[in-house]
Amino acid sequence: MKFGGTSVADAAAFENVARIVANERAAVPIVIVSAMSGVTDSLLAATDIASLENVFDRHRAVAHELLDTSRAADFVENELRNAAIQLDALLQSIIQKPAEHKLLQDAVVSFGEILSSTLLAEVLKQKGIQARQIDARSCIITDDEFASAAPLMEETFAQSQSELIPVLESGVTPVLGGFIGSTKQGVTTTLGRGGSDYTAALIGAALSVSEIQIWTDVTGVLTADPRIVPEAQTVERLSFGEAAELAYFGAKVLHPKTIQPAIENSIPVRICNSRAPHELGTLVGPETETSPRTVKAIAHKTGVTTVQITSARMLGAYGFLRALFEVFDRHRTVVDVVTTSEVSVSLSLDDASALPAIVAELEELGTVRVEKGRAIICVVGEGLRGTPGIAARVFSTISDINVTLISQGASSINFTFAIEEERVKEAVTRLHEEFFATKKGT
Ligand code: ADP
Ligand code: ASP
Ligand code: MG
Repeated sequence: MKFGGTSVADAAAFENVARIVANERAAVPIVIVSAMSGVTDSLLAATDIASLENVFDRHRAVAHELLDTSRAADFVENELRNAAIQLDALLQSIIQKPAEHKLLQDAVVSFGEILSSTLLAEVLKQKGIQARQIDARSCIITDDEFASAAPLMEETFAQSQSELIPVLESGVTPVLGGFIGSTKQGVTTTLGRGGSDYTAALIGAALSVSEIQIWTDVTGVLTADPRIVPEAQTVERLSFGEAAELAYFGAKVLHPKTIQPAIENSIPVRICNSRAPHELGTLVGPETETSPRTVKAIAHKTGVTTVQITSARMLGAYGFLRALFEVFDRHRTVVDVVTTSEVSVSLSLDDASALPAIVAELEELGTVRVEKGRAIICVVGEGLRGTPGIAARVFSTISDINVTLISQGASSINFTFAIEEERVKEAVTRLHEEFFATKKGT
């Protein structure tokens, strides 16, 4: 059971989590928790310990409201004080050692999850649930790519099992912070923003759980981002493939890496609303049933850069694509969508920080055109390819918007394209209306 930041935003939210966990006690839960909402942002922005006063106040307030006097005093005087001392030292060394910025930043930011998990374990105990905080850094073992570390699966599985099985066998509910891990040498790392979902999936896979539950502030995966389409509705069931595409192309409700461990171990993932725990939410599983509407949901992401490389040398030549992708490889830049023609390759990037160096190298291969400020829209549904007319419906709905980089995934369950960022709200709204308005009911 993974609870996101808004699910532990304040004392009332903590209490709610305790209730939800108590209801699942018979199923032997493992609890994963994010930092209290906003805390990760505050830690990332902190320049000195004084700027974290509000973070400490919020944890203190929850402790005083939900724990008895001695438990609260213990948390405030030990956990919070200790965190403040360590954070103070870390923030000072960040200034002194710019070369170690990323490593130290991960250590700073890890306190969000360390504190929330310690506090949640105390709240659970206060409510009569036998619980124990387990340091996630002794379970999630990663490489040293600070700020977006990749788990070492074998070590993570072995460590998670040896840390958690004895706790579970003694009838105690383990409570772990999400998002954080450590290298084999014990240096703190993090899995990337939103990474607590991934922690839940990793722990779930390591322990062969029967279900991974992601508890958040909306009822499951919705037909579109509710911040753009307020009338978006819960999708009751998604296949693993559909969920992966949606997460990858911007549905923030699931971290993009979450589905992989679930697929590999055939573990269903349920996305539920901690504010409305009785609503069923979305169940993600191996089924590949075709929705009657074919389109299940629309995801989008902004801040995308597209790059087009045109070269006559591509014609009938081999080795060209390899040379091209090696450029991105050398600059450790992830390529998202790719389309090719006889003489050109177009692709999209999320992270354009290495772009100047990349373009310089690509220019040796051909003419390069870069477009910033693009958005990607991804229409997802099993059986999309087998249903005629989807592309025509998409394009006629947004016929006045210039569409580039059109791609139908090999998985045949996504239809993806890029447009200008400024028009993304309009495009998603219109597509949602076309595919989901009940009056159409196709
Ligand atoms: P948590 O802190 O629980 O991890 P997140 O903020 O990371 O929560 O993810 C939940 C948010 O994802 C929702 O509040 C919603 O605004 C956003 N979101 C974007 N696209 C979707 C979608 N298709 N379905 C549901 N939520 C979405
Ligand atoms: N607290 C981390 C973040 O805000 C991880 C998470 O919430 O999943 O990115
Ligand atoms: Mg999240």
